[in-house]
Amino acid sequence: MSINSNRVAIVTGASRGIGAAIAERLAEDGFTVVINYSGSEAAAEELARKIEEKGGKALTAKADVSDVEAVRRMFDAAEAAFGGVDILVNNAGIMQLARIADADDAHFDRHIAINLKGSFNTLREAGKRLRDGGRIVNFSTSIVGLKLETYGVYAATKAGVEALTGIMAKELRGRSITVNAVAPGPTATDLFLNGKSEELIDRMAKMNPLERLGTPQDIAAAVSFLVGPDGGWINGQTLRANGGMI
Ligand code: NAP
Repeated sequence: MSINSNRVAIVTGASRGIGAAIAERLAEDGFTVVINYSGSEAAAEELARKIEEKGGKALTAKADVSDVEAVRRMFDAAEAAFGGVDILVNNAGIMQLARIADADDAHFDRHIAINLKGSFNTLREAGKRLRDGGRIVNFSTSIVGLKLETYGVYAATKAGVEALTGIMAKELRGRSITVNAVAPGPTATDLFLNGKSEELIDRMAKMNPLERLGTPQDIAAAVSFLVGPDGGWINGQTLRANGGMI
């Protein structure tokens, strides 16, 4: 039996991309996983089936992370199904690009609502409900360090997430719960690839000395470390998983 058996992990935005790879990896690690999604129901159900076929345990949970009540209901559902929650992986996020001078209010408000308020909504529930000994992994981006043009509003929401990470790690003193963030570099998912030319994708892939894009599995491996037994001494940190880009 795995050391992680009986531990329950909520992974937000787990229907596609990095989140789906995280859910799959944590199920392989022995965790029971809650696959959160907002729109891609068929993909979430398909992933749950795949995990169960391999002998894992999974539940799908529709909740827009920007919706406070939906987030509460997701935690309620996880507790009702499995008796408690140990791990929160705050992966759900959106990215649209615009120069700051050209970004409209809807662009700003949507990023804040999903990336920053969405992370806050789940963190607040986790802070009240996670079992002692739990783990929280938030999602930032290496762009916070790299500061590329057109990523301003997106990067600002993720800088906010990094601030929440360090402070919450301290606020959970005494409960043996770690709070960290993973900050990927360019990773081959819809979020990164959509709308970019082959030439631009190639150029960005070569920005790191390993000269390739990250894969969702690369990022899932970093999360697996942080939530697993070997990651227990890492707390309040942002881990840039980007092949050495910055
Ligand atoms: P993705 O391929 O676009 O997938 C996004 C996931 O988030 C989907 O499962 C989507 O589910 C879900 N989602 C979106 N809005 C949601 C909401 N309001 N509530 C709940 N779920 C929602 O993105 P990704 O590349 O895997 O990104 C995952 C995380 O890594 C994000 O936080 C992103 O900022 C970060 N990141 C990515 C990269 C990269 O290069 N890919 C680099 C740095 C950081 P539905 O389809 O069901 O809505």
